[in-house]
Amino acid sequence: MESLKDLSIYNSLTGEKARFEPLHAGKVGMYVCGPTLYSEPHMGNMRTFINFDLIYRYLLKLGYNVKYVRNITDAGHITNSAGEAVDSIGKAARLEQVQSLEIVYKYNVKFQELNRIYNLLPPSIEPTATGHIQEQIEIIEQIIKNGFAYAVNGSVYFDVRAYSEKFEYGILSGRKVDELAEETRDLNAQDEKRFFADFALWKKANPEDMQIWRSPWGDGNPGWHIECTAMSTKYLGSEFDIHGGGMDLKFPHHEDEIAQNCGSLGCNPARIWMHANMLNVNGQKMSKSLGNYFLPKEIVEGTTDVFEKAYAPEVIRFCMMQAHYRSTLDFTSDSLNAAEKGFTRLQDAVSKLDHLPTTNENTTPEVSALIPSFYQSMNDDFNAPKLIANLFEAAKMIFAIEDGKAFISKNDLDELRKEMHSFLFDVLGIRMEKAAGASDEALNAAMDLVLEMRKTARENKDWGTSDKIRDRLTEAGIIVKDGKDGASWTVK
Ligand code: AMP
Ligand code: ZN
Repeated sequence: MESLKDLSIYNSLTGEKARFEPLHAGKVGMYVCGPTLYSEPHMGNMRTFINFDLIYRYLLKLGYNVKYVRNITDAGHITNSAGEAVDSIGKAARLEQVQSLEIVYKYNVKFQELNRIYNLLPPSIEPTATGHIQEQIEIIEQIIKNGFAYAVNGSVYFDVRAYSEKFEYGILSGRKVDELAEETRDLNAQDEKRFFADFALWKKANPEDMQIWRSPWGDGNPGWHIECTAMSTKYLGSEFDIHGGGMDLKFPHHEDEIAQNCGSLGCNPARIWMHANMLNVNGQKMSKSLGNYFLPKEIVEGTTDVFEKAYAPEVIRFCMMQAHYRSTLDFTSDSLNAAEKGFTRLQDAVSKLDHLPTTNENTTPEVSALIPSFYQSMNDDFNAPKLIANLFEAAKMIFAIEDGKAFISKNDLDELRKEMHSFLFDVLGIRMEKAAGASDEALNAAMDLVLEMRKTARENKDWGTSDKIRDRLTEAGIIVKDGKDGASWTVK
C-alpha cells in the first residue's frame, strides 16, 4: 500500500513534476495567498481556493500532518492591471463611508459563508496583514541591513539591481529584469525609485489613506508583497514545503516574495511553488476589472443571467474537479448540465454499494484495479479529472456487479465502499446527500406536484398562492427559478 502514496507534484519553479519529499518527515507546511477582501470574492477566486482545498484534502488523505496557512489581505496597496499601486480596501471604505476593517469584516463573513457552501475545509490558520505589521517592518529592516532596499522620502523600495548581483531576480516567472519596464511601472513612485523594477516594501502615507501605521521611516502602510513573507515566515519558518496561489500571482507577487525572502533570510521560502489556473468566461480570465464575473452565490441561487437555472454547490464543485488545477476552465451551461448528470450517476452507483451481491470466488480483475487507480490519478499531480474518470469506471463496474456480469468478494466490497466514500467525500469534497439525484425520488415526485400546483395558480393569475409556494420553499432551503421551459428547483 505504501507505493500508493507516492505523490508527484508539478513545481512552477523548475517547470517539472517531481516526487514529493517533505522537508520534515510526515509533515507538510503549505502557504496559499488568500483573498483581498474589498468586495465579495467571485467564482474565479473561489476556483483557486477550491483547488487548494483539494490539494490540502489529498495531503491529509495521504496521512500528512499539514499546517495550511491562508492569509487574508486587509491592508496595503495592491498593484492593479495598469501597474498602479491602489488602496482598494480604502477606496471601498470611502465609497461606503465606513472604516477599512468594516469592509474587510463584511466581506470576510461572506467569504466564510462561501467556504461552507462549497465545502472547503478551514485552513490551520487565516492570519491577516493588519495583525502582522510589526513582523513586516522587521523584515524590511533586515532587507535594508542586507543592502537590498533603500528608504526614500518616507517610503522603502526593494533594490532589484543590488539584489540581482547576488541572487537571480525572475527565477520563478522567467522574466528578465530589462524586459520588465512595462509591467512594473508604479506611477506614484516613478520619481522615487532608483530603478523601474524596484518595488515598494513600505509606502509613505497619502493624506486620503484610511489605515496608517508608525514605522522607522514615518507613517505609512506596507507594500503588497511583504505581508506574505512576514506571515509565511512566522507560521511556517524561513523554508517550507509548498507555496500556492492563482497563476496571475506568479509575477510580480510571488517573484517579489522570493526576492524578499532571499533578501532577508537568504533562501527561497518554498521548495515547491504551485499555481492554479484561471476560471475563464468566453476564453477571458474572470475578473472584477473586466466586469465579466458572477458571484458564487448567484449561481447556487440561480440569480445570474449567465445560466438559465440554479446549480447545487456540489454539482458546481464536481464540475470544477473535472478540470485539472493547472488547466483553464470555462464554465458553461453545457459543462454544468453534464456535471449534474454525471453526478447523479455516481450518486446512484454509490448508493448501490450498500447492497451489492458478493462472491466467495475471486474479485473480477477490473474491479480489483479500481482502488489503486484512484491513488495513481491523484498521485499524478492531483489529477482530479482522471480520478473522476476512475470513479465513473467504478460506477460501471458496480452496475455490472449488480447485473451479475462482474464479481466482488465481501472484503473487497468493504474496501471499495470505504475508498469510494473517502475519495468522493474527503478528497474531492463532494457532499452526496444534498443535490438532487436518483436517491431523492420521493422529493422529486413531491416537487413535481408542488410546482404543478404553482403553475396552475399562475395560470389563474393567483399570484398570492404562487408567491407563497415559492417563499415557503425558499424558507425550507429549496430555490425555485422560473425559466423559459418552466420552473426548476434546487436544494440550497
Ligand atoms: P485577490 O482577492 O484578487 O487577491 O485574488 C484571490 C485569489 O484568486 C488569487 O490567488 C488569484 O490568483 C485568484 N484569482 C483571481 N482571478 C481568478 C480567476 N479568474 N480564476 C481563478 N483564480 C483567480
Ligand atoms: Zn501572497
